[in-house]
Amino acid sequence: MATAPTATSTKGSLREDLTCAICCDLFREPVMLACMHHFCKTCISRYWRGTQGPVTCPQCRKEFRCRQFQTNYLVSAMVEKVRVTTSDAYIQNLEKQLEETLENHRLRREDHMNNIHRDEDKMDTIKRAGADLQAHIRGEFRALHQILLDEETYMLDHIRREQEEELEKVLRHLESVKAAVRELEENMSVLQQASVATENRVLTEFPQLRPLMLVDVAPEFDVNAFSSKYMAPLQYITWRKMFKSLKPGPSPLTFDVDSAHPSISISRDKTMAVESEHAIPYTENNKRFLQCVNVLAEQGFQSGQHYWEVEVGSKPKWDLGVASKAVDRCSRIKLSPENGYWTLRLRNRNEYSAGTQPWTRLQLRSSPRRLGVFLDCEGRRVSFYDADDMSLLYSFTNGPRGKVYPFFSPCISGSSQKPQPFKLLHYPPVTLSG
Ligand SMILES: [Zn+2]
Ligand SMILES: [Zn+2]
Repeated sequence: MATAPTATSTKGSLREDLTCAICCDLFREPVMLACMHHFCKTCISRYWRGTQGPVTCPQCRKEFRCRQFQTNYLVSAMVEKVRVTTSDAYIQNLEKQLEETLENHRLRREDHMNNIHRDEDKMDTIKRAGADLQAHIRGEFRALHQILLDEETYMLDHIRREQEEELEKVLRHLESVKAAVRELEENMSVLQQASVATENRVLTEFPQLRPLMLVDVAPEFDVNAFSSKYMAPLQYITWRKMFKSLKPGPSPLTFDVDSAHPSISISRDKTMAVESEHAIPYTENNKRFLQCVNVLAEQGFQSGQHYWEVEVGSKPKWDLGVASKAVDRCSRIKLSPENGYWTLRLRNRNEYSAGTQPWTRLQLRSSPRRLGVFLDCEGRRVSFYDADDMSLLYSFTNGPRGKVYPFFSPCISGSSQKPQPFKLLHYPPVTLSG
C-alpha cells in the first residue's frame, strides 16, 4: 500500500519525460536531435518547416546547420509501453484485477480469522476441561487424604487415651505410696521424739501414732500387651477400612430373579446366573424378559455414582451393562442407547464391541475375566473397565436419564461345553475394632 504513490509518481515523471515539448503529448515516432532532446518526428519537421538556414532546438535553442535527427528506437519502445499501460482499457482491467485479488485476499483472510477464532475457542475449551478435571482429581484425592487423616487422628487419639489411662493408674499408686511414706515419716519423727523423752525419763506413756495406710498393689504394665494392637499391619488394616469408605466403592449387587428369562438359572444367594438348557418354571411377572435371555440386578440407580464388578471368566459370549427400567421385555430388541441399553459385548471369545448401532469394535490387548461397570447418573456416563488393571475399555457419554438397572445377558451359547456363570463380585465386609 505504501509503495503505490511512489509507483504512480515514477510513472508520472516517466510520462513527462516521454512527452514532446511541442505537442505536449506522448512522443510519436520520437527522434533525437544532436543536443539529445527528443520530439515527435512530425512535430520537429513541422517546427522547422519554412525556416531558412540553420534550425534550432525548440527546447534548448541550440543551433544546427543541417536538419538532422536520429530515430530513437529505445525511446519509441518505452513510449509504446507507457501508452499501453496508461490506456483506459488497460487501467480498467488492472483495477478489476486489483479488486478481484483484493476480494480474494479479503475472503481468505476471513477464512483464516475464523480458523483462528475456532482454534482459540478450542484452546479455551481444552484449558477449561483440563482445569475442571484437575479440580475433580484434587477433590477425589482430598477425600482419600481426609479418610487417611481421620483414621490417623482417630488412632493417635486412641493411643493417647490408653497411654493416659495407664499413666493415671501408676500415678494414683505413686501418690498413695508417697502419702504412706509421709505417714511413716511423721510417725518416725514422733517415735524419735518419744525416744529422746525416754532418755530424759520424761515420757510416761507410748506416744500416739497415726494409723498406717494400706497401699494398693502396684498396677501391672505389660509393654507388649500395650503395643500389640498397634504393632500390626497398620497400612493394610487402614486400607481395608478405607476400602469401605470409597465413593463409589464396588456395590454388592444381586440378580433379580423376577426379571430373569426362563432359561437363566440363578443361585440361591443371587450372585450367580447361568444359562440353562431347560426352561425353569417361572411366575408371570411384568419385569421378566421373555424373548431375550437377559437378567437385571435387583438394585436400580437413578442418581449418584455407582460401580460394580462382574466375573465373566472365559465365557465365549455375553452382553452386560445397564438397561433403562422402561425397556421392552417382551420383544427382541437391538442393544443400543437409543433402545435403552448401554452395553459391552463379546462374541466368538475375542470379538469385543460397544453396544452402539452399528457396533463399535474394540481392540482389547487381553480378554478381561472381570469387568467393572461405572455409572454416573448426573454425568450421564457409563464406562467399562478391565477390573484386573482398571484399564478403560469403553465409555458412553450419552448415558441414561432416569432409572436404570445393571444388565446381563449370558447369551445361550449352544456349544457342548458346560456354560459358565456370571458372578456378581462382593468384597467381604470389613470390620475392625478401633
Ligand atoms: Zn510532438
Ligand atoms: Zn536541444
